[in-house]
Amino acid sequence: MQTDQRLVDGFGRVATDLRVSLTDRCNLRCTYCMPEEGLDWLAKESLLTDDEIVRLVRVAVTMLGVREVRFTGGEPLVRRGLVDIVQRSAELDPRPELSLTTNGLGLARTASALAAAGLDRVNVSLDTVRRTTFQELTRRDRLDDVVAGLAAADAAGLRPVKVNAVLMRGVNDDQAAELLEWCIARGYQLRFIEQMPLDAQHGWSREQMVTAEEILGLLSQRFELTEAEEPRGSAPAEKFLVDGGPATVGVIASVTRPFCGDCDRVRLTADGQVRNCLFAREESDLRTALRAGASDEELASRWRAAVAPKRAGHGIDDVAFLQPSRPMSAIGG
Ligand code: SAM
Ligand code: SF4
Repeated sequence: MQTDQRLVDGFGRVATDLRVSLTDRCNLRCTYCMPEEGLDWLAKESLLTDDEIVRLVRVAVTMLGVREVRFTGGEPLVRRGLVDIVQRSAELDPRPELSLTTNGLGLARTASALAAAGLDRVNVSLDTVRRTTFQELTRRDRLDDVVAGLAAADAAGLRPVKVNAVLMRGVNDDQAAELLEWCIARGYQLRFIEQMPLDAQHGWSREQMVTAEEILGLLSQRFELTEAEEPRGSAPAEKFLVDGGPATVGVIASVTRPFCGDCDRVRLTADGQVRNCLFAREESDLRTALRAGASDEELASRWRAAVAPKRAGHGIDDVAFLQPSRPMSAIGG
C-alpha cells in the first residue's frame, strides 16, 4: 500500500487499528458507562446493515491500510449478524487481525462459532469476581454468565484471553489484587483501565478516578511488580511482570499518562460515522454517502479526510475540555 493511501493525520500518525461499534445497545448497565434506565437507542434505520459494515471494513482493510479490526459496542454479542460479519471480515485479503470487546454475556454460547468464523481474540470486561459487587457495578446479577463466557473463550482458543477492568473508588478498588489473582489462576491477562469522562450521566470526576499510580500501589500490597521490558509501541497498556512472571498485568493510564502521540486507532460507529478519536467532537458521516451510491474510492477518500484533522491529544486536562456528546457505549469503546 502506498503511503499516501493510508489513514494519516497531520501529526504523521497512521491509523491501522479500526474499532467498529456494532450496536449502541447493551444488556448491562455499568455505572461508569450507562444510566440505569439505558439510553435513547439509535433508530434502527440509521444502523448500518451487516452488508454495509462488511463493505466499510473491506474498504478500510484493502484500500486504507487497516490491519486490525475490533468489534465492540454497546454489547457486540447482542448483534445477530456478528458471526457472519466476523466470517466475512476474515475472508478479506489481506486478512485483518480480528478481535472482540465484550461483557461476556452469551459468550459461552457463541465462542466456538466465533473462533470458527475467524475471530482471533477477545477482551472480556470484568471488574470484580464478587457477586454483590458485580451487581452493584453492572446493575445486573450476571457474574456467572461472564465467568462461563471467559472459560468458553479460552476453550475455543481465543487466546490470550484478556480481561478489562475499571476500578471505582469505594466500590471495587479494594478488590484489585483479588481480581488479578483470579485471572492469573486461569491464565487470563488482566488490564486495568483508568475511568474516563465518557459516561452518559457525566458522573466522572478527576478526584474520584482511581489513577494508574494508585492501582499499582494497591497491587503492590500483594504482588511484586516489575516493568516488563517489551517495548510499549502503540499499545496503550503498560505491562508489569507479576512476582517475576511469566504472569503479567497491564495498566492503561488513558487519563494520567495519555498515549495519544502513538495512537493508531480510528472508530466507526454503529450508525456509520467515522470518529478519529474517542474524545473527538466531530464525526464524518459515511452512511449517507454509502447509501447515496458512493464508490469505494469515494468512501476511502472521505475516510482519509476524516482522519487527517485528528487532534494531538484528548485534552482531558485542558480547562476547555468538553466531553463528547456521544457516550462511550454509542461511540464504541
Ligand atoms: N460492552 C462491551 C464491554 O463492556 O466490553 C464493549 C463496549 S464497552 C464501552 C468497552 C470497554 O469500555 C469496556 O472494557 C468498559 O469497561 C470500558 N468503559 C466503559 N466506560 C468507561 C469509562 N467511562 N472509562 C473507562 N472505560 C470504560
Ligand atoms: Fe454495557 Fe460495556 Fe457499557 Fe458495561 S461497559 S454498560 S457492558 S457497553
